Amino acid sequence: MDAFTDIRLDGVSYAFGTHTVLNQIDLHIPAGAVVALLGPSGCGKSTLLRLLAGLAQPLLGTITFGNRLVAKAGWALPPESRDIGMVFQDYALWPHMTVEDNVAFPLKMRNVPRAQRETRVAAALERVGLGEFAKRKPSGLSGGQQQRVALARAIVAEPRVLLFDEPLSNLDSELRESLCRDMAVLLRQLGITAVYVTHDRGEAGIIADRIVHLSAGRVDAIRSVTSSSGEIA
Ligand code: ADP
Repeated sequence: MDAFTDIRLDGVSYAFGTHTVLNQIDLHIPAGAVVALLGPSGCGKSTLLRLLAGLAQPLLGTITFGNRLVAKAGWALPPESRDIGMVFQDYALWPHMTVEDNVAFPLKMRNVPRAQRETRVAAALERVGLGEFAKRKPSGLSGGQQQRVALARAIVAEPRVLLFDEPLSNLDSELRESLCRDMAVLLRQLGITAVYVTHDRGEAGIIADRIVHLSAGRVDAIRSVTSSSGEIA
């Protein structure tokens, strides 16, 4: 795979039984772009993200990351083989592990030697502003801090693609905006291709450089965000 990976969906459809949830999605996400998938509850955002993650298989169509086919009708490359990082709404941290052990986990899975692991975990925690919290347990942190840990864990292995599923929905509005701005800066620094699911128009405008509006399983419109103030063209 290339260092910076574009994502392409061609004719992707998905259904739960007879209920079509995604209907012939064609979408190109350029390498390094941060794209928000925006739309009302039930329009298919999470399903599309699950297909990108390899947690579900398309009924029709193909998905490629760079020049690598990752899914086609009835087949999906598993998540652990896709070189992705994910951030979920509920943080999904392991409560019995310290912050640094949570962040180190993806590196352990890749058999990265201990000394290199420690350096990379420390760097990832610095990036999210949690350098001093390495030895704590998640329960000793605020919701915003826990989501920063999850973000550090998602980036520590330097994945090609980052996937976010409503990551700020459990936080109060003030914290949501400041963390969203911090994440927007971090994503630009890292240059990773990112897909960010949200139903919040303000969040989408802050985080993304383009917004894909989904409606009833179809791409309704794609808009560029023209400035860091979140103004939409
Ligand atoms: P969003 O993330 O935009 O809220 P989802 O992708 O979660 O939307 O859901 C899209 C549609 O698929 C909705 O109509 C939802 O009810 C339906 N759906 C989601 N999960 C399931 C499931 N496990 N079984 C049946 N229908 C589902």
